[in-house]
Amino acid sequence: MNNLPENLASIRARIDAAARAAGRSPDEVTLIGVSKRQPAEAIRTLFAAGQRAFGENYLQEALDKQTALADLPIEWHFIGPIQSNKTRSIAESFDWVHSVDRLKIAQRLSEQRPTDRAPLNVCLQVNIDAEASKSGVDPDTLEALASQVADLPRLALRGLMAIPAPRADYADQLAAFSQLQRLIERLRAKRGLQSLDTLSMGMSGDLEAAIAAGATMVRIGTDLFGARGV
Ligand SMILES: *Cc1c(COP(=O)(O)O)cnc(C)c1O
Repeated sequence: MNNLPENLASIRARIDAAARAAGRSPDEVTLIGVSKRQPAEAIRTLFAAGQRAFGENYLQEALDKQTALADLPIEWHFIGPIQSNKTRSIAESFDWVHSVDRLKIAQRLSEQRPTDRAPLNVCLQVNIDAEASKSGVDPDTLEALASQVADLPRLALRGLMAIPAPRADYADQLAAFSQLQRLIERLRAKRGLQSLDTLSMGMSGDLEAAIAAGATMVRIGTDLFGARGV
């Protein structure tokens, strides 16, 4: 029932259709397979089908899978909440971090990024709905944080990430993602931030609206892997 290569083809077709509908090239949108609570073997199967970028939320689980899949040149993305005592391991083991939302964490990731690796690509997570329960920087303090993070030597600030509250309606989804698009446009007008090129937004239920609003990375779990284990 759970045919991973078939799921991958169907997600790619959705990305293609959404990009074309928005007058964009599908090449502008990178698919991140969100593999939290999925087995390493499922990642291996999707890698064999051509998928290269995978996102993980839980550090120890991710490290175990990285060990099991060390023979594959996977691009690893960390997308979960970051505790400050976990930054060293994240800085050493990932290519991207999407969930930076405070300066202290960014400073630690920069200090702890190994010098033999390229600077760590980071996105700032924005709390678009001001939900008390969610991580993410407040839009009002985003610009100050972005300027400080852009100055850190071992990080490459690439853009913004958000997990808007779920909305059933396409128009509502589009409105939320458009807020993030406006925020990155405002940042790009500032000195030192012109090269921001990444909007990480859109999940299984709302990738079409995210792509219409300019997403360059969509993070897909359920519709790619099937339901998650517990
Ligand atoms: C779990 C998760 C996803 C994937 O969500 P699905 O609805 O399963 O596609 C994307 N981004 C983040 C940050 C997640 O935690």
